Amino acid sequence: MSTSINAFIEAARHGNWGPLLGAAAEVPGKHWAEDARCSGQDTDLFTPLSDGPREDPDEVRHFQGTALNRPLNFCASCPLAVAARCLVESLRLDDEYGIRAGLLASERSDLRNSWKLRIDAEAVSAVLRGVPVALSEAEREEVISRFAADPTMNATHVAWGLGIPRKYLWQLAREHNQSSAPAPSTAISSGADAA
Ligand code: SF4
Repeated sequence: MSTSINAFIEAARHGNWGPLLGAAAEVPGKHWAEDARCSGQDTDLFTPLSDGPREDPDEVRHFQGTALNRPLNFCASCPLAVAARCLVESLRLDDEYGIRAGLLASERSDLRNSWKLRIDAEAVSAVLRGVPVALSEAEREEVISRFAADPTMNATHVAWGLGIPRKYLWQLAREHNQSSAPAPSTAISSGADAA
């Protein structure tokens, strides 16, 4: 499992999320963790105390030593699709702590940041059509921006896709338009200065 999940992770680090998301989609639904190798294990095993989003992964690995072998071996033998889904869910939930798919929390920080900036055109399009999809922050911004720019769009569909009330969608669109409106002109004061 580890070679393949590592290849998916490496691709995601280079902006190609397709392989990781494709593998994660092979275990749809909320019972995806039933076949997880860590199922029934002590969760403390997967949350090393010295590990965190701002730590140096080399130092964490050095400090933890062989204590990491057990959780990492569980991840290495986890079914590929389950490991992929495990990592994707942690990114969706912005889990800062814990080992996921063989990555320490300190090793996932860059992926978490990239995930937030990721824009999947298909996900954005699905939400605009009223299909609820988990979005990154950037994708959510994109949906609101596209809705705010096109008054003919179906507000009920977009609100449903985002999982928010229509009224709140309109409020977000208004706020978006206000924040992206051009700054007031300084022509009057410039003219006064010239005079
Ligand atoms: S990859 Fe995720 S689900 Fe699988 S053993 Fe590791 S932490 Fe558990």
